[in-house]
Amino acid sequence: MEKARDGGKKGTVSRRQLLQGLAVAGGAAIIGTSTEVFADGKFSGWPDRRGMLTDLTECVGCRSCEKACNEANRLPGPEVPFDEKSVFERKRRPTASAYTVVNRYEPKSSDKPLYRKVQCNHCNEPSCAAACPVKAYTKTPEGSVLYNADVCFGCRYCMVACPFYVPAYDYDSALEPKIVKCTLCYGRISKGGIPACAEACPAGAVTFGKRSDLIKLARNKIRKNPDKYIDRIYGEYEVGGTSWLYISSVPFDQLDYPNNIPEKPLVEQTKGFLSAVPMVLTIWPALLTMCYAATRNKEGKE
Ligand code: SF4
Ligand code: SF4
Repeated sequence: MEKARDGGKKGTVSRRQLLQGLAVAGGAAIIGTSTEVFADGKFSGWPDRRGMLTDLTECVGCRSCEKACNEANRLPGPEVPFDEKSVFERKRRPTASAYTVVNRYEPKSSDKPLYRKVQCNHCNEPSCAAACPVKAYTKTPEGSVLYNADVCFGCRYCMVACPFYVPAYDYDSALEPKIVKCTLCYGRISKGGIPACAEACPAGAVTFGKRSDLIKLARNKIRKNPDKYIDRIYGEYEVGGTSWLYISSVPFDQLDYPNNIPEKPLVEQTKGFLSAVPMVLTIWPALLTMCYAATRNKEGKE
């Protein structure tokens, strides 16, 4: 997670400062400031932000993208070997040791299986960031949504807030459990490179580029091949738009994409949810205890 730790430098505090801040300010005030960053429901910044277009009609389910991701992020070996097709017998989601996974679908309206690559969609206005009480998440000008483990104290609100069920919790790291997810290969793209999965895809199913160019590319593909694609770019508007975009030959709900999610970012709903929780009186003391224990562990090692 070295690359993920690159993010979130701006406006963040050390774990010790966090504890001091909590003692003085109280949790409710911290929540109030964290949501203001994305609270207007419109994302007009960073017009050059990058993105990815997945053409589901081109994916052949080879899992080269999974392998490349594991290698680029120095993750442990896969649960099931990358060339093993039995992995498609169950639906998987990203985990602490697999930031992207490919699932197989056999929709009735298609005469061949379709494969769906799942990872963080790098939302324009990420609800994970809005839900985080300590600003552990940052949306970068490049388009990546990054997570800073040094600030996180393990409340896992981001996991609850993500409409795509992406962030995973690294339970295997006993001393420093942390959230893990795809970074859009921030370390590569910030130096002009392309994400490992896009580079590795032998079928041209994943294209990296400027998000606005990818939308034009997707529209052109749909316009030129109306019999091949349904007329929708998933991610263009969902929850205010995402950096990851998808085109498909079958409706997205047949591939388990969350459907009927609002075009408006979930930021306001997240804020409402968090405001409704009487944290100071209920779970906040427990969180502080966990936070204190985590800090003791971390500082004991330093
Ligand atoms: S997909 Fe989930 S984890 Fe990724 S940026 Fe959006 S809300 Fe955050
Ligand atoms: S590398 Fe490309 S073709 Fe292979 S599974 Fe991933 S997206 Fe599909």
